Amino acid sequence: MQIPKQGSSLDDVMARLKALQVDDADYHNARTWGLIYNAGPEVDAMVQAAASDVILENALNPFAFPSLRQMQQDVVAMTGHMLHGGDEVTGAMSSGGTESIFLAVKTARDRVRAEKGIAKGRLVIPRTAHPAFVKAAHLLDLDLVYMPLGEDLRTRAADLEPLLTDDTVLCVASAPAYPHGMVDPIEEMAAVAQSRGVGLHVDACLGGFMLPWLERLGYDIPPWDFRVPGVVSMSADVHKYGYAIKGASVVLHRPKANVRYQIFIYTDWPGGLYGTQGFLGTKPAAPIAAAWAVLHFLGEEGYLRLAAETMDAAKRLIAGVNAMPDAHIWGEPDMSVVAIGSRVHDILAVGDTLNDRNWHFDRQENPAALHLMASPRHKLNVDEFLADLRYALDNHAEKSTRAATYGDDVSEQANAR
Ligand SMILES: *Cc1c(COP(=O)(O)O)cnc(C)c1O
Repeated sequence: MQIPKQGSSLDDVMARLKALQVDDADYHNARTWGLIYNAGPEVDAMVQAAASDVILENALNPFAFPSLRQMQQDVVAMTGHMLHGGDEVTGAMSSGGTESIFLAVKTARDRVRAEKGIAKGRLVIPRTAHPAFVKAAHLLDLDLVYMPLGEDLRTRAADLEPLLTDDTVLCVASAPAYPHGMVDPIEEMAAVAQSRGVGLHVDACLGGFMLPWLERLGYDIPPWDFRVPGVVSMSADVHKYGYAIKGASVVLHRPKANVRYQIFIYTDWPGGLYGTQGFLGTKPAAPIAAAWAVLHFLGEEGYLRLAAETMDAAKRLIAGVNAMPDAHIWGEPDMSVVAIGSRVHDILAVGDTLNDRNWHFDRQENPAALHLMASPRHKLNVDEFLADLRYALDNHAEKSTRAATYGDDVSEQANAR
C-alpha cells in the first residue's frame, strides 16, 4: 500500500478504521481473558478523557510540560507507597512492563559493575519469569541462568543458592508469575540473595495493582513487596490491574541512590545535553495522564471494589473448572490468573472450539494450558464461559492446529530474505 494521492474526510477515515476492526476481539463484552483489563464504561470514559486531553503533548521535555513531570512523580510516589516502599524508594514511569524490567536489570548491571568491578555479569531468573528478562539479558549482554521449576510448578528458594556467583548482578522473583498465577517464595529467595550480597527484583507487573487490595480483603498473600528486606527493585504495570491505558508502568529502586544507574546522560551532542530516564526519547503523554487520572478516579476504595469483583469472577472460574472431572487448574493461583489443563483432552484443541465461540485467551505449553486472566467485567459472563468450556470439552478436534503464542506475530520477519 502507498499513501493515497488525495486525503479523505474524518468521517470517511473513521468508517474505514471501523471496517478494519470487524475481526478484533470484543473486550467491551469481556470476551478477552488477557491483553485488556476492562473495568467498565465509567473507567473507560475517565482514561479516555485524560488521555485525549494531553494526546498531542510530548513527555520528552518536562520543562515544556511541567504537568507531565508532576503527574509522573505522583504516579511513582503513589505506587511506591502502595508497595510499602515509603520514602525509601524512587523510580520512574516507563512505557510498560518490558521497559520497567529492562531498566531494573540495567540499573543492577551498572551498579554492580561499578561496585564490584566485574566485566560482564549474570542474571538469575525463575523458569516462569517473564521473557522480558530474557530480552533484557540479551540486550544488556548478561549471562542468563534459570532456576528449575518444581513438579508443583513452583519456584523453590533452595534452588537459588547454588546459582548465585560473585558476578551475579540481580536475581528475580515474580508476584505472581504469568504462566500459572503463583507468587514466588519471595521472603525466602530474598534471604538467600541477601546472604550472598545480591539484590532481588520483584516483578509485580501483573500483581502490583492487585495483591495490595487482596491483602486488605483478607486473602493470605505471603510478604511480596518492599516489606521484604533484600528487595532492591520492583516493576508494576498501571496498564494492567491499574486500569490505565497501555503504555504505563512503574519501576522502583531501593535505596533511592540506585536510580542514578538507571538514567542516561550524554553531554557532547551539538543538540545540547541529552538526558532520559528510560529507553524512550520522545515519550507519549497520554498513558501518563491516564494513569494519574485513574488512580485519583478510583482511589483505594475503587480498587478494593474492582479487586473484589475480579476475584468473584476468578473464584467462580476456578471452582467451575475444578468441578469438571476432565479439566483442572494448574498449580494454586494466588489471584485472578489461571492456567486450565486437562489430563483427558488435548486442551489446545478444546481452546480452538472456544475460539470459534469468540473467546480470546493465550495458550501455553509444558504443561499445555489455556491461560486466562479475569478482570472486573468477567463477573458478567464467567458462567457463559464455563458452559462453553463444558461444550468444548465434549466437542473438539483430536489435535489443535494452533500454536501456543504470546506477543507479536514475527513469522514474516523471521523468514525475511
Ligand atoms: C505483562 C507482564 C510483563 C511485561 O509487561 P508488558 O507491559 O507486556 O511489557 C512482565 N511480567 C509479568 C509477570 C507480566 O505479566
